[in-house]
Amino acid sequence: ATPTAVMVATGIGANNGVLIKGGDALERAQKINFVVFDKTGTLTQGKATVTTAKVFSGMDRGEFLKLVASAEASSEHHLAKAILKYACHFHFFDEASTTKDVQTHVLESKFLGWLFTVSDFSALPGRGIRCFIDGKHVLVGNRKLMTENQVTISSDVENFVVELEESAKTGILVSYDNELIGVLGVADPLKREAAVVVEGLVKMGVTPVMVTGDNWRTAQAVAKEVGISDVRAEVMPAGKADVIHSFQKGRNVVAMVGDGINDSPALAAADVGIAIGAGTDIAIEAADYVLMRNNLEDVITAIDLSRKTFARIR
Ligand code: ADP
Ligand code: MG
Repeated sequence: ATPTAVMVATGIGANNGVLIKGGDALERAQKINFVVFDKTGTLTQGKATVTTAKVFSGMDRGEFLKLVASAEASSEHHLAKAILKYACHFHFFDEASTTKDVQTHVLESKFLGWLFTVSDFSALPGRGIRCFIDGKHVLVGNRKLMTENQVTISSDVENFVVELEESAKTGILVSYDNELIGVLGVADPLKREAAVVVEGLVKMGVTPVMVTGDNWRTAQAVAKEVGISDVRAEVMPAGKADVIHSFQKGRNVVAMVGDGINDSPALAAADVGIAIGAGTDIAIEAADYVLMRNNLEDVITAIDLSRKTFARIR
């Protein structure tokens, strides 16, 4: 294509909220035959909501939620935010309604002041968090976190977690003083356009893939809902770039679509990195394309634009 054609295509992209960082990226996009999607915040809305909390010990429900919220208060993770919101609503309204229209920020700051004091907090990537409350060890996270710390998962707990996962939810396990005391279920619905976009890509001869740090069962339930059959789950934050490399064989041209800090090495490793405009700055910096409308349909717009720009002159 002539420099003018590239300029025109870049302009058309910009008018559609598709920012293209340079002619090389525009040219590579026509040959994309794999699109690897991050799950959370990319295929899903990234608006995690706690849907259930079940106490498996004698602990009072309010006390359980206070404990979990205290532990999560220092975490930046989207799951932590969902848990805090849920516990906050329970505390003020004695119920789980997170839809109630309230001045959440005012309540949340009051709530934070009321929580337990936490010491030795640490975030464990791909697992959860740990801290001490009243001298007792507290863990909040996935199965791996529990088994690595010799916390026994009873069959009752395991069955409950499996049930959550089969309905596309993430189960968050909580231990106190090395005893499993409860489980929370977190849902994060798909974006409205996600399934249509996946179907569209397949029609264009592009294979969709999903990658996530979340567990296998939840990942597979979400993938099934969206129509993706190739899933890579329980991928550690540093491992997403390796997933990209594993597809970069022969003539394959691999795109990565993501929104998080975790996604930035994969966005950089991909032949075409596509960041969601609402994503983190680090992801946006690492990408070749930025979708300003936060609509996955623009992944198709981007590939189409490149195909139309370069098809004729070959
Ligand atoms: P993702 O953002 O794709 O879920 P992460 O690597 O951030 O990937 O997390 C992987 C898993 O680790 C989560 O699904 C969750 O089970 C657990 N986890 C991570 N951080 C937290 C946290 N702050 N609280 C509870 N669980 C967590
Ligand atoms: Mg994400």
